[in-house]
Amino acid sequence: MAEKLCCIIDAQGFVKNGVFFPREIAFCSDIKNVSFLVDTKLKYYKMSEKDRKTNKFIERKFLGIPLTQEFSAKCIIDYKPEIYRLYLTLKTSDKKLVGIKNYQLSSILSVLNIPFINLEDFGCSRLDILEKIYRENCCGFHNKKNKRGQWKCAVRKANILWKWVKNRKTDL
Ligand SMILES: [Zn+2]
Repeated sequence: MAEKLCCIIDAQGFVKNGVFFPREIAFCSDIKNVSFLVDTKLKYYKMSEKDRKTNKFIERKFLGIPLTQEFSAKCIIDYKPEIYRLYLTLKTSDKKLVGIKNYQLSSILSVLNIPFINLEDFGCSRLDILEKIYRENCCGFHNKKNKRGQWKCAVRKANILWKWVKNRKTDL
């Protein structure tokens, strides 16, 4: 399985003026799993009312990670070079493709010239269905108070998608 895929990447984050700002980025592969937080540098008071409402909803109901986290050592600001650097550590001469199921990430990977495939084009089911098959926990970046632990988590999603890829009968 996964003959040509070197890894899965996922990103979760916020939006401003229609632009996606990743906050959490995760890689899952046979070699290693890596994840990191990105400091979006966004400020609620500098957003439109609509974006402020959307992002507060994302923060409190979906992501469980604050908009910014300026004092965290784990935060990276310039995330594109970091994605590229990690990709280079995972790709091999016969496995160059990245698998994603994330529209917002596709534009980031295109800018970086990282070749990717959309897993939905290969029959990948909806995430809520996959979550029931491949049970994975949300990572420690998110607010611990959510008892169900069902935050939108890039790490969990990347792990689930990698399992789906590995369980396919035909190669990707
Ligand atoms: Zn997470």
